[in-house]
Amino acid sequence: MPRFYCPVPLASEALLELPAGAARHVQVLRLQPGDSITLFNGRYGMACDAGTPGHSLGGEFEATITHMGRSDVQVRVGAHSAIERESAATVHLAVGMPANDRMDWLVEKATELGVASIQPLMTERSVLRLSGERADKKIAHWQSVAVASCEQCGGNRVPLVHGVKTLTAWLQSLPVPGADVRCLLSLAAGSSPLHTLAAHGGARHTTFLSGPEGGLGAAEEAAAMARGFAPVSLGPRVLRAETAALTALARLLV
Ligand code: SAM
Repeated sequence: MPRFYCPVPLASEALLELPAGAARHVQVLRLQPGDSITLFNGRYGMACDAGTPGHSLGGEFEATITHMGRSDVQVRVGAHSAIERESAATVHLAVGMPANDRMDWLVEKATELGVASIQPLMTERSVLRLSGERADKKIAHWQSVAVASCEQCGGNRVPLVHGVKTLTAWLQSLPVPGADVRCLLSLAAGSSPLHTLAAHGGARHTTFLSGPEGGLGAAEEAAAMARGFAPVSLGPRVLRAETAALTALARLLV
């Protein structure tokens, strides 16, 4: 059944006009009145609470299309199912943005694996440099890639794609190290194998910091370690930026 992210309050038996993005998608698929669809409205970081406006019940709803206009689509919301397909672990990814369409690919695959949030970073060796309106457009685009990926894979919680930051600004914005686990994906000698972390990581919050194509500089790695990031290794091969990030996510989430 086609699935649509519908970021508005959902309740069984309600008649609902789909938000523009979902309505466009329904039109593109040439669905018709009477067709059944699935709606979900969960985001990572949003509490699930049936009684509080703006909060999400989580899970997903059946819905039936009742009206197709030129651009508007109306549905009747049906039964709620509390199903979640998320990992017990909460894993965030901060990554030196790879250039070209590799970041799109990374956002799509990280979402499939169940990442909770993605922080795109500019580092000293970053090829891709974004600011102002261009950065805002890219973030909106990557957020839509994450939505499409959830619609495809069955995830009912859309990861948040944060605004672009420099590595320095992002590190400064982090709270003092606490109960969360912070890992720096590093090729430096002496980095601990990731499986030692996976064995102890359990269901804690983990953040992976991964470099861009050219890697992080020594001073950048030192700055990350000063903010509580432990260097971890994914083995002796130099993985591409997006492969490294996805490998780390897969080891903890799948
Ligand atoms: N020439 C660059 C260097 O020496 O740093 C290669 C950078 S690599 C293409 C991009 C990023 O992926 C690295 O900064 C690191 O975060 C991560 N990475 C790649 N292979 C890794 C490995 N075997 N173990 C841990 N991290 C790795």
